[in-house]
Amino acid sequence: MFLKLKRFWQSEITAWPRNDANIILVTEILLMSAFLTMNAADGILQSRAIMHYVDAGSFPVSSFIMPLFEHTSTSTLIFIERACWWFHIIGILAFMNYLPYSKHFHILLAFPNTWYSNLKNMGEFNNLESVTNEVKLMLDPSLSAPAADAPPQRFGAKDIKDLSWKQLMDAYSCTECGRCTSQCPANITGKNLSPRKIMMDTRDRMEEVGRNIDKHGADYDDGKSLLTNYISEEELWACTTCNACVNACPVNIDPLSIIMDMRRFLVMEQSAAPTELNGMFSKIENNQAPWQFSPADRLNWVNPS
Ligand code: SF4
Ligand code: SF4
Repeated sequence: MFLKLKRFWQSEITAWPRNDANIILVTEILLMSAFLTMNAADGILQSRAIMHYVDAGSFPVSSFIMPLFEHTSTSTLIFIERACWWFHIIGILAFMNYLPYSKHFHILLAFPNTWYSNLKNMGEFNNLESVTNEVKLMLDPSLSAPAADAPPQRFGAKDIKDLSWKQLMDAYSCTECGRCTSQCPANITGKNLSPRKIMMDTRDRMEEVGRNIDKHGADYDDGKSLLTNYISEEELWACTTCNACVNACPVNIDPLSIIMDMRRFLVMEQSAAPTELNGMFSKIENNQAPWQFSPADRLNWVNPS
């Protein structure tokens, strides 16, 4: 059972996320090794009072490497120090160019993403602007309806273009650490849902749409969407809206808001809610309560006959 859950938990970490993580890890080890070796060589050159290597204080970590170079000639030490300096600086510049293509982009986006966190109480859902506009139009005759040729506003989200900029930034800020999935009760009980996968799918779809725009222009439709081609209805309805994933994320990413917006699309545009919910919706519509009793019979329990 444990192995089954572990396998499922790791199912979204396929070839590219794994390779990406390995590239980041190896690059960081190499860059840090070069940096510490440079300082170790520099420290010894300082102790030999070589010109250009002025006394710059101690190197607490590199001092553990210095004994390795104690008997190295001065010219070799200068070569090592220069080579490590260039390797480190060129490596940093190359790595900065790799970041936008990698999950490591989160080191740039983590701060702004946290700054723009949703500060409302957890569980408080936002009103959809498209629905609010429709209601205002119905209630206020003085408001003018949108032009006949204006595209209809979408209720909820079917694809990434329906998501807000914050939801898209959330996806680019995700470091795929899996804290959210490890706290998700749906995932823990074996349901087909992983909030980490929701974020990874959103980013993958964004990159696919970006490639399509580069190739075919902004209006190109590839016939795919985030809903169905990446995230299934089963995943969306497995969510209990408990907010554990939002609470667990170290950079305040909100996978639940994407799940809810896609559910709203299913309910309001496709009438594709599970049967149990459809029953409840029609009872609320007809009886103003989720039960199958007429509102006139609501107080019958006080006077049982
Ligand atoms: S809100 Fe949904 S996705 Fe997030 S932890 Fe709870 S059940 Fe999982
Ligand atoms: S906890 Fe946050 S950063 Fe980690 S995988 Fe989940 S959404 Fe991404």
